[in-house]
Amino acid sequence: MTNLNRHDGTFVWRESEILNYKETGTNFKNITRQILYPGTPELPSQMRYFEIGPGGYSSLERHVHEHVVMVIRGEGRALVGTEILTVRLFDVVRIPSRAWHQFRAGDAAIGFICLVNIERDRPEHPNAAQITELKSNPNVASFIRI
Ligand code: MN
Repeated sequence: MTNLNRHDGTFVWRESEILNYKETGTNFKNITRQILYPGTPELPSQMRYFEIGPGGYSSLERHVHEHVVMVIRGEGRALVGTEILTVRLFDVVRIPSRAWHQFRAGDAAIGFICLVNIERDRPEHPNAAQITELKSNPNVASFIRI
């Protein structure tokens, strides 16, 4: 990228293609992704923008690597570990290593910046036993989408 990736519309950046959230999978709904900053050897992290449309949700997953997220559009809710958080504009959310997580939009879109290392492990999705364990918490059971 050049040194200025201009915000060029409403939550659209000039040098960032609007991508599918993931190349494969059906365990998510209504999400786009833009890579705002692709990382360099000197700063081997990526800044991405995700937008979840009304009624949409991200994958329920966990991994060793961490995320840190800042909401810059709308609001929504997030599962982090066993907590259901209401997340609002400009809130910063840490997704610790190994914590199950999922973001959900409400009736309007939620958009957030997500910082992640370029080199990272692949997400794990819950198996049947893990889903049962997650659902043993009633708040988690009613929140998650699989
Ligand atoms: Mn994740």
